[in-house]
Amino acid sequence: MKKIIYLQRIGDIDPGILIVLKKDLKWFFEKYGFKIVNIPNPIPLLKSEYDSYKRQYDALKIKKRLIKYVKIKDYNRVLGVLDVDIFSKYLNFVFGVADLPKNQNFGSALISVTRLKESFYRRTENIALFELRIVKEAIHELGHTFGLKHCINFCVMKFSNTLEDTDQKPPKFCEDCANKMDIITDNFD
Ligand SMILES: [Zn+2]
Ligand SMILES: [Zn+2]
Repeated sequence: MKKIIYLQRIGDIDPGILIVLKKDLKWFFEKYGFKIVNIPNPIPLLKSEYDSYKRQYDALKIKKRLIKYVKIKDYNRVLGVLDVDIFSKYLNFVFGVADLPKNQNFGSALISVTRLKESFYRRTENIALFELRIVKEAIHELGHTFGLKHCINFCVMKFSNTLEDTDQKPPKFCEDCANKMDIITDNFD
């Protein structure tokens, strides 16, 4: 099993965001033996994934398409990154969604950076904070693809209902989740 996490731009998003994210994720996942690869070409968003009443995209529809696409390409772990507002089922908005797979050799997740920007809340943009929020949400959703569940400790796997929740959690696993992650990723090869 190849230990690679692919990053896929979806729709119109600043490619610079993915370059920074790749560097941050490399630093984080290197200890588990994972490489991070940026897929150069973006895939489009589809009209059928847009809810014109909510004025948001349906995260689960996008994720479903992403899964089909990466299975064809034989990518075993992929994170889609978007810059549009997304919702999931009954949640008004989400920062991201992920599979909690039975088969941990395959996983896909999505994050949206839209609500991680200070400017979304009409505040002055803070690039360092924006990038930190992105890496936290990325690690969180990727953590789910490895089978990690929500955690109540001071941990990146804590559920974020609001941006304040995201800001309060650290960009790392607690000891419990780190131990689980060690066991899971050891079994990869
Ligand atoms: Zn979660
Ligand atoms: Zn934890």
